[in-house]
Amino acid sequence: MTETTDSLNSDADPVYRSGSRRYERADLHCHSTCSDGSLTIDALVARAGAAGLQWFSITDHDTLSGQTEARALAAGHDGLHYVTGVEWSAVWNGILVHLVGLDFDPAHPDSLQAAERQGEARAKRALRIAHKLDRNGFAGVEKWVRSEQAPTAPGRPHIARFLVDSGQIRSAELAFRRFLGAGKLGDVKTHWPTMEEVVQWVRAAGGQAVLAHPHRYRLTGRKKRQMVADFAAAGGSALEIGVPGMTPNDRMLFTELCQTHELAASAGSDFHHDSQQWLALGQVPPLPAGLQPVWERFAL
Ligand code: AMP
Ligand code: MN
Ligand code: MN
Ligand code: MN
Repeated sequence: MTETTDSLNSDADPVYRSGSRRYERADLHCHSTCSDGSLTIDALVARAGAAGLQWFSITDHDTLSGQTEARALAAGHDGLHYVTGVEWSAVWNGILVHLVGLDFDPAHPDSLQAAERQGEARAKRALRIAHKLDRNGFAGVEKWVRSEQAPTAPGRPHIARFLVDSGQIRSAELAFRRFLGAGKLGDVKTHWPTMEEVVQWVRAAGGQAVLAHPHRYRLTGRKKRQMVADFAAAGGSALEIGVPGMTPNDRMLFTELCQTHELAASAGSDFHHDSQQWLALGQVPPLPAGLQPVWERFAL
C-alpha cells in the first residue's frame, strides 16, 4: 500500500503508534472531573502541555465550570493555545447527538443560559433515570442521586458506576449495554434541546459548532447524510473527523459531506480515563487532506 500523509491510522502502523508528527497537534475534545472524566483540569492541561499540543480544548458535558481554570493553567505552557470548549447534549431526529462548541465566549448571556438550562436538564434526567431503574429491579438509585454522595447532576456513567459499586451489576459496560445505552431504559431524551437550538447558542456566542463523533450514531448512510445536511443548514461549522476509531468508509463519507456542505474538520480524542486503552490525550489521526481545519476558523 502506498503511504500518504492522509492514510488512515491503524494499530499496525508504527509511525502512527510512535507519536510522530503524523498526529495532529490538536485535541479539541476531552473530559475532566467537571463531567465524566477522571483527570482534573490541572492534570489534563499538564498532559496537553507535555504532549506538545498547539490547540487544546476541554469539552465537558453540558457545563462550563472548568473553563476559566483551564485557560489560566494553559497560559503557563509555551505554544499551547487554549480554546474554550463544551460538549452540549441535543436531540436530532429522535436520537441523542453531541455538539462540541469551540472558541465561543463563555460569559455571553446565551452561553450562561445554556449551561444553566443543560444543568437543570441533567439533574431532572438523572432523577427520571433513577426512578426507572428503581422500578425495574434495581434498588436505591433515586436515593443515591438525591444524596450528597452523588454529583449535582450525575450523568449515565456516574449512575453506571453506582450500580457497580453497590454490587448490582458486574461492570459499567454491561450497565450501558443492558440499561443505559442508546434505545435502552435509561436513554431519556425528553429534556434535551434540538440540534438547531444548540448550534444557535454556540454561534450567538461567537463560536464554532462541531458535530461530535459523527460515526458513533447508529444510523443508515442516508440518515448520516441527512444529519450532516441538517447540521450544516442550522449553521454548524465542522465535523469531527480526526477521531480515533472511525472506519475508512465513514472517513470517506464524512470527508465528502464536509466538501459538499463547506464544513471544516475538527480533531479530538474524546479522552475520559487512562483505562480507555489505546487512547491518549492528543493522539488523534491527521485530518483528511484538502479539508479546512476548524482552528483556521477560530477568532482568537
Ligand atoms: P450522558 O452524558 O449522561 O448522556 O452519558 C453519556 C456518556 O456515557 C458518554 O459521553 C460516554 O462518556 C459514556 N458512555 C457511553 N457509552 C458507554 C458505554 N457503552 N460504556 C461506558 N460508558 C459509556
Ligand atoms: Mn462522556
Ligand atoms: Mn460525546
Ligand atoms: Mn465527549
